[in-house]
Amino acid sequence: MANDHIDKAFNINPAFVSKQKSVKPIQYYIDGIKSGDRFILSEAITLVESQEEVRRETGVALMDYFHSIVPTSDTLRLAVTGAPGVGKSTFIEHFGKYLADQDNKVAVLAIDPSSQVHKGSILGDKTRMQHLSTHPNAFIRPASAGSMLGGVAKGTKESIFLCEAAGYKTILVETVGVGQSEYWASMMVDMTLLLIQPGAGDEIQGIKRGIMEMADVLVINKADGNQKNLALQTAKAYESVLPLFKPRFNDLSTDIAVISAIDKIGFDELWQKINHFNQSSIKAGHYTSNRIAQELFWFDHLVRDTLYDLLFKNKKLAIQLEELKTSIASGQLSSASAFYQIQKSIIAALNV
Ligand code: GDP
Repeated sequence: MANDHIDKAFNINPAFVSKQKSVKPIQYYIDGIKSGDRFILSEAITLVESQEEVRRETGVALMDYFHSIVPTSDTLRLAVTGAPGVGKSTFIEHFGKYLADQDNKVAVLAIDPSSQVHKGSILGDKTRMQHLSTHPNAFIRPASAGSMLGGVAKGTKESIFLCEAAGYKTILVETVGVGQSEYWASMMVDMTLLLIQPGAGDEIQGIKRGIMEMADVLVINKADGNQKNLALQTAKAYESVLPLFKPRFNDLSTDIAVISAIDKIGFDELWQKINHFNQSSIKAGHYTSNRIAQELFWFDHLVRDTLYDLLFKNKKLAIQLEELKTSIASGQLSSASAFYQIQKSIIAALNV
């Protein structure tokens, strides 16, 4: 409704540029973030997610400004992963509120590599987050369609930082539990929680090693009603197989917690376990080294990603790339030989 006048204006004059969409002076965002204005924080996040040069530039300048003045060494970045239906949204809503009620400022972000497919359902259904979204200590940012580029959550890492600049101490990053989202999330956080359904031993066999090894705390959810005993058995079963998996850090073992997100049972114990892990990680130096490694990982990743895009803006190279792909697909060329050809063309184009 609020945008009606803009839509109308746009229909009459396609060249009309909405004032709402224009980038405001950087001081506007700085002041807003400093004063904890959630609306302005949201606007600032839109800037760092944007692919538009002007917006992104302001977003980067904003990051630079806060980078030098905001200590982020007292914040905790937590990924919440797990298969669809395991209770991630329910958990984030209730556990987020549990933390917010203790005066912990909580921000909730989402990584949704397939928001087009899911139609932005992740965190998008506000009613599911109604307790948290109205809490004065909470900030919720739904995943926006288009915030992914080449499968990477462009801007999510920057969003985490802007939330910290605005005073949020616990950042919960929700994933959709499919595809690569767990991986991307784990590369942005200090700790990963893997939510698990109560279930028989067979399901342990089915769980992917990679997903288990990314997790720092296994959280068996739905320990309520007639599933309570099964949840406890599941926890025991996981405990017995844990030694077969490699923990993320050799000196920090993966922990297990049993909760009911709906009934808010087990939250104190879970929070203790999270804090214990985090304190041990800080003491051992992993917290800091992990954050540095992640910064380098993203830098490298973005450089590669951007280079690829830029290179193949060159029409000749783009055509050759497609032709080589066709030759590989039809069995005419091996990937190695095709690579050799494109490599030569790239070197020639770059003049190196
Ligand atoms: P997501 O897809 O992982 O985000 O899962 P949802 O949070 O949407 O939850 C999927 C279903 O599991 C919903 O019907 C929830 O009500 C239910 N659910 C979530 N947490 C619990 C819990 O602790 N106990 C029970 N019994 N059901 C739960």
